[in-house]
Amino acid sequence: MPELVRYSLHGDIAVLTIDNPPVNALSTGVPEGILAGVRQAEGDSNVRAIVMIGAGKTFIAGADIKEFGKANGSRVAGELAASLQAVENCGKPVVAALHGSALGGGLETAMAAHYRIMASNAQVGQPEVKIGLIPGAGGTQRLPRLAGIAKAVEMCAFGGNVKAKDALQAGIVDRLVDTKGEADLLEAALAFAREISAAPISRTCDRSEKLVNADTAIFNAARDQARKKMRGQPAPLAAIDAVEAASKLPFAEGILYEAELFERCRTSHESKSLIHAFFGERTVSKIPDVPSTTPLRKIERVAIVGAGTMGGGIAMVFSDAGIPVTIRETTQEALERGFNTIRANYVRTVKSGRLTEAAMEERMARIKGSLSYDGFEHADLVVEAVFEKMAVKKAIFADLDKIAKPGCILATNTSSLDVDEIASATSRPESVLGVHFFSPANLMRLVEIVRGKATAPDVLATSMALAKKLGKVGVLSGNRFGFIGNRIMGPYAREAQLLLEEGASIEDVNNALLDFGMAMGPLAMYDSVGLDVALHVEIEARRIEKQPARRPLVMEKLVAMGRLGLKSGAGFAKFDENRKPMPDPEVAALIETCAREAGIERRTISKEEIVDRCIFAMVNEGARVLEEGIALRAVDIDVVYMTGYGFPAWRGGPMFHADTVGLSNVLSRIQEFEKRHGAALWAPAPLLVKYAAEGRGFNLSED
Ligand code: NAD
Repeated sequence: MPELVRYSLHGDIAVLTIDNPPVNALSTGVPEGILAGVRQAEGDSNVRAIVMIGAGKTFIAGADIKEFGKANGSRVAGELAASLQAVENCGKPVVAALHGSALGGGLETAMAAHYRIMASNAQVGQPEVKIGLIPGAGGTQRLPRLAGIAKAVEMCAFGGNVKAKDALQAGIVDRLVDTKGEADLLEAALAFAREISAAPISRTCDRSEKLVNADTAIFNAARDQARKKMRGQPAPLAAIDAVEAASKLPFAEGILYEAELFERCRTSHESKSLIHAFFGERTVSKIPDVPSTTPLRKIERVAIVGAGTMGGGIAMVFSDAGIPVTIRETTQEALERGFNTIRANYVRTVKSGRLTEAAMEERMARIKGSLSYDGFEHADLVVEAVFEKMAVKKAIFADLDKIAKPGCILATNTSSLDVDEIASATSRPESVLGVHFFSPANLMRLVEIVRGKATAPDVLATSMALAKKLGKVGVLSGNRFGFIGNRIMGPYAREAQLLLEEGASIEDVNNALLDFGMAMGPLAMYDSVGLDVALHVEIEARRIEKQPARRPLVMEKLVAMGRLGLKSGAGFAKFDENRKPMPDPEVAALIETCAREAGIERRTISKEEIVDRCIFAMVNEGARVLEEGIALRAVDIDVVYMTGYGFPAWRGGPMFHADTVGLSNVLSRIQEFEKRHGAALWAPAPLLVKYAAEGRGFNLSED
């Protein structure tokens, strides 16, 4: 086994270099190596002080997340805590030298040292809450002693990173160094170690000056904020409890309390779900029959057809990544409208302080407009984003086939149309695929990469790599109506509407799913997308219905009344001048009329039924999507829903959520619904029946 922690002597200073590429994670062997190094230095009478430093680009960037998920995960954290205590107890001063990132266990290690110096471009943080955990090796007890209660609460409960200047100001580190790399930092650390080698040792665990005045208002305000911002998640609240304990208990007792809370979080569904989400985003980039060694096509220039909602947003995505874009429109007016929207979006970002004016102008300058296909002959990739009409799309692809250079990738942003039929308009179907961005394209992370029957492996590999370069998450989908996301959305939204006719109010349905953790209630989502757009997809979806089923009636009537959602001022809700939704009695009356028309007797519907009907309809369709091979793995469906449809990551996506509930429980609920509402809507998917019988889940463990 390679030596993960190297021991070397620089005169009378011992240097422990943590060398566990790529990010010096605290895998098994690293804490042990640090401890062994500290012991060796302690036993060497020539050594006056110890420096801990990371090899390569960073200090310890975190724990090895995979180890937490294992049965012995609590032991791993416990052992780290004990090793760090031993480092802190060392009789010779220990200096941690931080560059790159000192995150999670990395910052905990640094805080157990007696001094910290930090490169001025480095960052520190306790991001454990992002995977449903709290710091488990003393972080919640040492950080408040260095940085004070308020800062520790903020960092441990919300997981944000802290830049060097703030870290110095907060007292997390003792000195900043301008460095050009690891060698510089080492020089500075050695000089610092010599400077303090004779000073008395100050252990973080003994400090208490920043623990006084721990105002309960700080904890209460943080709890309120956590309940709002991180709805449904126990870890942020546990982190606040742990920091509060630091203000009340002696260090050793605080450490025990932290360990108890850590273990509770580690074994929680929420943490398992967030870890599933974390690894899921990496898994989805793998396509089994497209090896990672597949040579990629170069994408240096992009052209887009259509400067509407999607075309404009997609142009921003490429320009943001430094790739020049040409957009074609049909009229000068449409082109100007498109450019005005792009500029307005950038101006909003400038106003928020996240973009400078100069950077905005640079990004605008990379986007050129055209009323012809001029410039398209140089493009390495063309994205078509015109109206959702097959004939229009085919005509455009026939044009592109004549103009585009050989090897150019031709992508359609269609949300539901048959990619093979679009490809058939060209002489090069191997270069055609679907690249389905979500709205607003510049903000949403999901891109469904739709594989046609002829799409070449290098086109898929290039598109996947490109999605990553653009800061997106690409998920491969087979070419069938609605792909993964909109296909599964169908039954979910259908149930939301049927529940209205059966007796639930619009608010009941929206709130039940909000409480479940969805970013938005389903009917609020339709109001925001546009009821006409949603209805169009629903009508198209009927083409793949196996048996005629009961159809919700309300949305069709709302569209006929011109109630298209937020854009027309009213949809399921009505909107005031500040775009705030309000219940509308007119819609409540319309729902009752629809129920009468459908012969439905209205009843009181529980929140539990609302959630189960909507979510299990989604899961049942997900099982079909999986069985048909439209999604490669259950986790691909989960990632689509978490990154594109506001499904809570702390439930791990619909399929992981079903695994958590237990597939036999999901199945029996679906069978109840089938009895009540018929097989056309609720016949259980064969794969669900099979897996439930086998006692397995959709997601097999990733270990
Ligand atoms: P849109 O109506 O906002 O924009 C379409 C634009 O294409 C219009 O500006 C139109 O003038 C232009 N256009 C039409 N024919 C053209 C041609 N021959 N050459 C150049 N420009 C032409 O539509 P949109 O919402 O941006 O949708 C575009 C595509 O993206 C559709 O296929 C849609 O299904 C898909 N999509 C939409 C969303 C969404 O939420 N809006 C999300 C994902 C995918």
